[in-house]
Amino acid sequence: MKLDKFARYPLTFGPSPITPLKRLSEHLGGEVELYAKREDCNSGLAFGGNKTRKLEYLIPEVLEGGYDTLVSIGGIQSNQTRQVAAVAAHLGLDCVLVQENWVNYHDASYDKVGNIELSRIMGADVRLDPAGFDIGIRESWERAMESVRAKGGKPFPIPAGCSEHPYGGLGFVGFAEEVRQQERELGFTFDYIVVCSVTGSTQAGMVVGFAADGRARQVIGIDASAKPAQTHAQIVRIAQHTAELVELGQPITADDVVLDTRFGYPEYGLPNDGTLEAIRLCGRLEGVLTDPVYEGKSMHGMIEKVRLGEFPAGAKVLYAHLGGAPALSAYSEWFSRG
Ligand code: PLP
Repeated sequence: MKLDKFARYPLTFGPSPITPLKRLSEHLGGEVELYAKREDCNSGLAFGGNKTRKLEYLIPEVLEGGYDTLVSIGGIQSNQTRQVAAVAAHLGLDCVLVQENWVNYHDASYDKVGNIELSRIMGADVRLDPAGFDIGIRESWERAMESVRAKGGKPFPIPAGCSEHPYGGLGFVGFAEEVRQQERELGFTFDYIVVCSVTGSTQAGMVVGFAADGRARQVIGIDASAKPAQTHAQIVRIAQHTAELVELGQPITADDVVLDTRFGYPEYGLPNDGTLEAIRLCGRLEGVLTDPVYEGKSMHGMIEKVRLGEFPAGAKVLYAHLGGAPALSAYSEWFSRG
């Protein structure tokens, strides 16, 4: 596998730490050992997260191509756009963000606090757009790009979740390489890796990275899009493309992409009772924060799989904590009574 042939601009602290989730493991019966790899604190740029790792492989093209404005898109409380705003500020670039109405949640402060607040503080030109949830390519950010060109700027488009960018999967191929190195230091290997999926390039990169040592199907995606057929197809497509890029040397098939579709309901951005219980449980037992849109759903999935005995006794499970907690203040209503 040839990841090193791609230029990488460092935006993270280095390898993100792996920490044991001891009290949560014990609470769930102690037969399965849970750990977390902390992408939620992988960088000093506005808290980091999974997009910061992905952006490391997109930024070299930005710098070499003389682009002056990063243009990206997401929901109003998008973590992606907050991370793009941080990277733009860090590099001295302008930033235009299209924030769409992806979540069916109405609260007076929703478009003022959390991620969108941070993006504004970091100087991004934030543009609210009424369009609804869709993980595909949108016209709205093409319009945003045009507006940059009209002013004589050179816009660099970064699609939702970085996923449709040809290099969007590379960062999480690197994640797998990093885990292998950390496993050598820890003296054991992980049997399963649990990851939240929506736009797909996080899991796609992991599937490719872990395919290199036969663990593609040990990567358990937890769907948070509530449109799992679309998300599954997108993960497969990105994984196949990424496998070619890094010359994996073996095919990736649809069966290599495991996506558990039981935890994404009722819809993208809205938690179910299990999501909320998982957020509280992980917060109270571990002091680790997860959010109702993404990581609360994958945390719910992991907890439920332990409870249902879906991991064999003695299994070591690595939860990829992809970030997202900066959105929590936008969802305060669900937690106003603890
Ligand atoms: N977790 C968090 C915190 C995210 O911001 C995202 C972004 O969409 C995801 C998980 C899902 O990652 P992906 O879009 O690569 O599937």
